[in-house]
Amino acid sequence: MTADRPAPKPMKSLDDALAQLLGYAVVLMGVEQVSTFDADGRVLAQDLVSALHVPPQDNSSMDGYALRCADLADPTRAFAVSQRIPAGSMGTSLTVNTVARIFTGAPIPQGADAVVMQEDCDVQSDGAVRIKALPKPGQWIRRAGEDVTRGAVVLPQGERLTPASLGLAASIGMGHLRVARRPRVALFSTGDELVMPGDVAPENMPPGAIYNSNRFFLKALLTRLGCEVSDLGIVPDQRAATIDALRGAAENHDLILTSGGVSVGEEDHIKPAVQSLGHLDLWQIAIKPGKPFAYGQVADAHFMGLPGNPVSSFVTFLLLVRPFLLKLQGVSELAVKPMSVTANFNWLRADKRREFLRVKRNATGGLDLFNNQSSGVLTSAVWGDGLVDNPPGCTIAAGDVVRFIPFSELLA
Ligand code: AMP
Ligand code: MG
Repeated sequence: MTADRPAPKPMKSLDDALAQLLGYAVVLMGVEQVSTFDADGRVLAQDLVSALHVPPQDNSSMDGYALRCADLADPTRAFAVSQRIPAGSMGTSLTVNTVARIFTGAPIPQGADAVVMQEDCDVQSDGAVRIKALPKPGQWIRRAGEDVTRGAVVLPQGERLTPASLGLAASIGMGHLRVARRPRVALFSTGDELVMPGDVAPENMPPGAIYNSNRFFLKALLTRLGCEVSDLGIVPDQRAATIDALRGAAENHDLILTSGGVSVGEEDHIKPAVQSLGHLDLWQIAIKPGKPFAYGQVADAHFMGLPGNPVSSFVTFLLLVRPFLLKLQGVSELAVKPMSVTANFNWLRADKRREFLRVKRNATGGLDLFNNQSSGVLTSAVWGDGLVDNPPGCTIAAGDVVRFIPFSELLA
């Protein structure tokens, strides 16, 4: 009689893994006050409520003449210019049967109900103005509160600030903003084969060595997401050294992020090291590249172990670490918005894992595939401008519409 073999545990799907991870990502305590100038990419920790209308008053959107439409019953008449209102000054109430010289951004004087642009006016030798094109009431007037009304929430808590939103915050008078504090992230790479560029010249590379490329893009990605990065360098492939590095990093960081050493080989020490200090809650996800992703906790710090292969490391960062770090900062909108785009390539090898193929948009608006989808070929991530999200077990034929996630969504 043969004993029943336990069925292999199916790998987590990406959606399940992400939901689980986001469950662990409790928003960090602590708020910082920063100059609006320095707040790009930071996450608002308060609703921004406007204390005024923007624009504060009705104003002209043209250089021209402000007038009262009712005065134009006789369109042939010429009007005296009774006042001049440049931007930044207030006029006075408009006298009947006169016009006001007005400039873009200047407040509309009381009594005026339209602006005629100067190109539609003739200024006579005596200075009086004839209107060549009859205005409709309200023409070229920007209304008070047309952009923002007093009391409106212009940007909600949890919004990640962009250059345009900094301008909007400034337009309601905010010189400083309360934002989530930066996540403190400890970053280290594992691998005895790794050598730092700059330390060893290419011609002196020892046999079997490769340059540490992950460290560079991971640090840059973390920085873009508003993190304070402690770069702990390269940790050798030894259990004790890995444990020491993890223990040290857990002391004053919110997240420990590693690359390499998280598979099942004898030289992969990350998993057992995390388990000896804390616990591992997630390991292996049904995606390609990026299967050997791990999440756990070491003391009070979150731990995320990325695969060593550079493209796997890059893709798992974008799909899993990025939303996690945004959630830690309180970002409310985490979903990326894929686009439906036509594939101009064939992908005939269906995989049982969900695949993320490196592709580039071409001149016809379709997608080309990078010719080498190996998880070690970082050129694919540079050549490409996004990923095709290909469901498990699916092939792609040229002409099929696929889910495309541009890097611009994932790298912002
Ligand atoms: P590992 O996940 O440690 O088994 O590594 C998988 C592959 O990725 C191996 O070929 C490693 O040499 C390579 N690799 C690991 N870490 C890095 C790194 N930081 N930079 C470039 N390649 C790496
Ligand atoms: Mg390794």
